[in-house]
Amino acid sequence: MSTTARTCAHCKAPLPDSSPPAQTLCADCTHRADVFPVQALEGLTPEAFDALPFGVVELDPEGVITAYNRAEERLARRRREEVLGRNFFTEVAPCTNVQEFAGRFREMVASGAPGEEGLEFVFRFPHGTALVQVQLVFSAVAGRGYVLVQRRA
Ligand SMILES: [Zn+2]
Repeated sequence: MSTTARTCAHCKAPLPDSSPPAQTLCADCTHRADVFPVQALEGLTPEAFDALPFGVVELDPEGVITAYNRAEERLARRRREEVLGRNFFTEVAPCTNVQEFAGRFREMVASGAPGEEGLEFVFRFPHGTALVQVQLVFSAVAGRGYVLVQRRA
């Protein structure tokens, strides 16, 4: 047990003593896709990845989907079996194949440097539209991209 008071890395609220050392965000902030530390995604177990309260789509540098979590399945109303191995921008979510989304991702990949950008976006699903907050991330070291998706109220 540490005696040092720990605080949330984002909002500085005190963390409960019982929280695991790897946890750096308070309960409220772990539910926000826009402040989630993306480096932490790479260390998650499949169970923890699925338990995230916002959608996560993991992409290779070409935009091919390599992982898809449960929150994203619910948001998009698609099962991962339908999307894994397919291109997110051109096949699965063609509404994102525009400069502000796919174009930015391709620029991040081409630059070879880590990149992260937040944008508001309207997803057009077969079942309707959804206004979402998106964090678009590329990890140059891992050669992996992430699209974090959170529905806006
Ligand atoms: Zn917090």
